[in-house]
Amino acid sequence: MPYERDNILRLRAYVPGEQPAPGQAAGLIKLNTNENPYPPAPEVLKAIGLVDGESLRRYPPPTAPACRQAAAQLHGLSVDQVIFTNGGDELLRLAVTVFCRPRDADGTAGGGGLGVAHPGYSLYPILGDIQDTPVTRVPLTPEFALPNDFADRLNASGCGLAIVVNPHAPSGRLETIGQLEGLAKRLQGVLLVDEAYVDFAAHDALALLEPDRGLNNVLLLRTLSKGYSLAGLRCGYGLGHPDLIASLDKARDSYNTNVIGQAAATAALRHRDQAAVTWQKVIQERQRLSDELRRRQYHVYASQSNFLLVRPASDARTIYESLKAQGILVRYFDEDPLRDKLRITIGTSQENDCLLAGLDRL
Ligand SMILES: *Cc1c(COP(=O)(O)O)cnc(C)c1O
Repeated sequence: MPYERDNILRLRAYVPGEQPAPGQAAGLIKLNTNENPYPPAPEVLKAIGLVDGESLRRYPPPTAPACRQAAAQLHGLSVDQVIFTNGGDELLRLAVTVFCRPRDADGTAGGGGLGVAHPGYSLYPILGDIQDTPVTRVPLTPEFALPNDFADRLNASGCGLAIVVNPHAPSGRLETIGQLEGLAKRLQGVLLVDEAYVDFAAHDALALLEPDRGLNNVLLLRTLSKGYSLAGLRCGYGLGHPDLIASLDKARDSYNTNVIGQAAATAALRHRDQAAVTWQKVIQERQRLSDELRRRQYHVYASQSNFLLVRPASDARTIYESLKAQGILVRYFDEDPLRDKLRITIGTSQENDCLLAGLDRL
């Protein structure tokens, strides 16, 4: 008799994009995990340098008040509408813990299942499996849009939480506020809009939190990993109705964010303008790379993110492997409907030139 719960024994764990060891990274062009190609803001590095031994000796402030204050001020919200987490991934895990019920003996979860769109961030269904909650996957349209009956289908299958990534990953498509608002209104459960890539997009979904919209079931996810070039720091946050935030807050680890992360995240948000300079550069390169790839007969999906989903004219896996052999990493997903596509993170202009030269050598 194994020690583990059945669902954990059955679990297929999340597979991150290849992360070469520091010694092997030199000379590699790494366009596979959507990191910002530019360094973090100088003010952030300064704040990390100012963390002293005394503040490391003590436990961190449990609720990250300075970070929450900075985020609340930035977004025009109150502090009780913000929770700080160990990366956006912790917020996702907390949301599944708080809003999804483990299945009963009959296999259902009394309206507490998890609903996601497919394809999407593959961590979502895995978090559902860890919680042992039923997961409903609704296919997106061929253009990666949410189908009109998305909310109805999740309601019919008893979902207590829906997670929608916007801009969408891995396509980069951005849904309108109206679309998301309609979804939130129709859903019986909570809608979590994962805005991991919103810093590179034309608009965010903050308007859904305006009190006069009367929505008490919306959460937004933000992360410092992508826009702020701080993936190694593990800082993210959630925004939403104070009641939802209070419930998430009850379920988190007492000291879920550390002192260095809190100092860096506070500085990053206060000096958002320094990160925003990199967003403009990424957006410019996104346009240039899209044009260059289209010129090479790639189908490029319109992206509001820091990556492009492209469909080459020839076999995608072969291209992925040939690029890898040249030291250029992009992301290949060996599953429908992505098998014939590649996801390419926008790099610096030199990195993007190397990618194009690598493609031209094939
Ligand atoms: C990167 C990412 C996150 C959060 O990542 P963290 O590094 O844990 O903050 C969440 N959702 C999507 C779709 C992402 O790509």
